[in-house]
Amino acid sequence: MLAAQQICAWSQGTWMAFHADIVIEELIIDSRKINEPETALFIALKAPRRDGHSFIASAYDKGVRNFLVQEEINTSDYPGANFILVKDTLKALQLFVAQYRKQFSIPVIGITGSNGKTVVKEWLFQLLSNSFSIARSPKSYNSQIGVPLSVWLLEPENELGIFEAGISQPGEMENLERIIKPDIGIFTNIGEAHSEGFMNLRQKINEKLILFRNAKQLIYCSDHPELNEAMAQYIHQIKGNGSEPDLQLFTWSQKHEADLRITRLEQIDSKTKIEGQYQGVDLAITIPFTDPASVENAIHCWCTLLLLKVPQQEIEKQMEQLHTVAMRLELRHGINDSTLINDTYNSDLTSLYIALDYLEQQKQHNHRTVILSDMLQIGKPDMLLYEEVAEAIARRNIQRFIGIGPALYKSKSLFRAHKKLRSIFFKSTEEFIKKLHLVDFDKDAILLKGARSFRFEKVSILLEQEVHQTVLSIDLSAMMNNLNVFRTRVAPGVKVMAMVKAFSYGSGSYEVAYALQYAGVDYLTVAYTDEGIALRKAGISLPIMVMSPDSGSFDRMIAWKLEPEIFNLRSLELFTRMAQTMQVKEYPIHIKLDTGMHRLGFMVHELPDLFTELAQNEHVKVASVFSHLAGSEDAGLDEFTRQQAAAFRSMSDSLTLQLGYKPYLHLCNSAGIARHPELHFDMVRLGLGLYGVDGSGVLHDELIQVGTLKTTIAQIKELDPGETVGYNRRGKVDHPMRIATISIGYADGYPRALGNGTAHVLIHDKPAKLVGVVCMDMCMVDVTGIPEAKEGDEVIVFGRELPLTQLSQWADTIPYEMMTGISQRVKRVYVNEG
Ligand SMILES: *Cc1c(COP(=O)(O)O)cnc(C)c1O
Repeated sequence: MLAAQQICAWSQGTWMAFHADIVIEELIIDSRKINEPETALFIALKAPRRDGHSFIASAYDKGVRNFLVQEEINTSDYPGANFILVKDTLKALQLFVAQYRKQFSIPVIGITGSNGKTVVKEWLFQLLSNSFSIARSPKSYNSQIGVPLSVWLLEPENELGIFEAGISQPGEMENLERIIKPDIGIFTNIGEAHSEGFMNLRQKINEKLILFRNAKQLIYCSDHPELNEAMAQYIHQIKGNGSEPDLQLFTWSQKHEADLRITRLEQIDSKTKIEGQYQGVDLAITIPFTDPASVENAIHCWCTLLLLKVPQQEIEKQMEQLHTVAMRLELRHGINDSTLINDTYNSDLTSLYIALDYLEQQKQHNHRTVILSDMLQIGKPDMLLYEEVAEAIARRNIQRFIGIGPALYKSKSLFRAHKKLRSIFFKSTEEFIKKLHLVDFDKDAILLKGARSFRFEKVSILLEQEVHQTVLSIDLSAMMNNLNVFRTRVAPGVKVMAMVKAFSYGSGSYEVAYALQYAGVDYLTVAYTDEGIALRKAGISLPIMVMSPDSGSFDRMIAWKLEPEIFNLRSLELFTRMAQTMQVKEYPIHIKLDTGMHRLGFMVHELPDLFTELAQNEHVKVASVFSHLAGSEDAGLDEFTRQQAAAFRSMSDSLTLQLGYKPYLHLCNSAGIARHPELHFDMVRLGLGLYGVDGSGVLHDELIQVGTLKTTIAQIKELDPGETVGYNRRGKVDHPMRIATISIGYADGYPRALGNGTAHVLIHDKPAKLVGVVCMDMCMVDVTGIPEAKEGDEVIVFGRELPLTQLSQWADTIPYEMMTGISQRVKRVYVNEG
């Protein structure tokens, strides 16, 4: 919280318009995510492809009245608003938050390193939130923008701050240090990640060490030789200045003497017991994880707790309860056509706001419900805490609130004060479960958010729709990554049309379309009218092009604002007639030209008739003119591609000339975008690449496969030599074999061509080859070499470690066919960063 006047002064700004001094509570950089507009400051950041200044109007419309800008604004367009003008809005944000930080004298922990920053931060929060009122970075907010937004969350009642810092090039840590000013530092580890900007490892370490310039204590693992050496030199350097260093090192090691000497790691089932010596005393903790990264992260936390003098007994108790940090929120199909956002491990204001934003994005539902347990937010009296929660929920488009737990039960009246919000309360999770059948959930978007002790996973089982064992998991964050990979390849101003035809290449319908709309693509394209109508019904408002509209659906297209691809005179005449009947004018249409693909489209000799038909036609307006490349991915066809492009140029030029206005021109699909940067025209049509499959052969390192197809082991059998497996005895057993039957078959879209040893699946990250033929609903795999495999285990059919391109090669087809062939009975589950 800071007065606007103070922000203006501290950011070295001037008032472009000043109306009233307001206490700012929230900083906003995205006009779609606003909690309390009246007390928010909108910071217009300027990024290469996204200029915050162009969202000022939208933030103003939502009620925001305070703006930090770096460009002249016509402030008379925004009556009643304050505008602070600075040279650089990002620098200004960093400046005033650094000043803000100075007001707090509580201990602050700063975390950097190549891996584990977010997990260590979240775990420290889990471990310490019983003992301290904590402010921490939301999600992985560790960048030049994320750090000031995190530190801003410090409030007077806090007793501890935990913030992470990440850098990608030299010079960046200086800024972050000034803002975080950590007292206690944690250097998690050093790896090769993000080393592009650095000359070598040492330079990278030294840059990161800048974060601890003013720290009193620094925790790190002295088993990393490079890190250890750099640290020794760093201390030496400080000592060189003559004074004793203020910075004390707190080391841990599995190999040699250290402050915390790790003496033994023992794996017991799914847990690890970690034994160590600290100040001459033998200590131990047990964590519910076995992987090396979790062990390393836990030891860093252990050191921190020892430094903070948390009693060993409390440390042990909390360590046993550590739980996985959900980096992303999972969207599942709920009962009665509901959507369920499952966030059942965390319950504090920071994570609640993230989840509420995500709930609000579920525009496919008109009704939204929040189910919340009592919160673990110490430091704030219940009254103030729940008043804030009630307001945050009432302010959003949320219709129903279900509060569970004694504290919420007592705070009923705070929620009931908001008349439009229906609220129901239960004293315990058990009571809620008993009465669950009385609460109706129907086409609802449900956020389930509870502290761990409330055991909401029991509720989530009841609210989740039962799923067939085989699921296709769609990672929407990966899709956003892929979108950005392509966006950086097209010039600013070139529009992006995203192809969501064929059920988004098999990935789902409105979930994908909605994520793309939210990400700001310019156009969507479907194959058929009904696909477009389904998107409109789900609340998609972007322009939608329909590639194969049949004339019988023209009336519905117009009613639902869907734009037809017009590829011959007949469809143009029929569409014009319908537009006339429905009395619409200048309805957007898209003219398809045939430049060599010879599928759909006007040929050169048909252009004169097209001109005649379009001239004086007041019912339609050509929104775009396009053509499709036959071999954009194939270097052997580049000459043909150039011929197509030349034909496209000449045909579209004469069309534009005739029209007297300029429609958008577009030619490139995914591979075309990557391989033919000179052919982007006004818009590109992005399909396959969006789903993380590289058809171009030049992008594979950057794209992330969006889909993971998983199933489970239904049964395991031990077979003797001489026996056979499956239909027609095609699977031969020549040595003692362990065979797993898995729940996927050709009816799910798993091609028969993959049988008899052609393909493998992954079980416990290890390959298991197919034995015998693929059946309709099942197939059999060899798990002789995977003794840990057991019934019920997860099987990866394809995913990042077993790419679709590999499967499609095995099946002698292309990824497009594999993806769109996954049958509709396979449930789609969506994951996303909150
Ligand atoms: C499907 C399609 C695309 C997208 O192609 P990708 O190779 O998947 O990127 C582009 N344009 C048209 C006309 C299409 O039919």
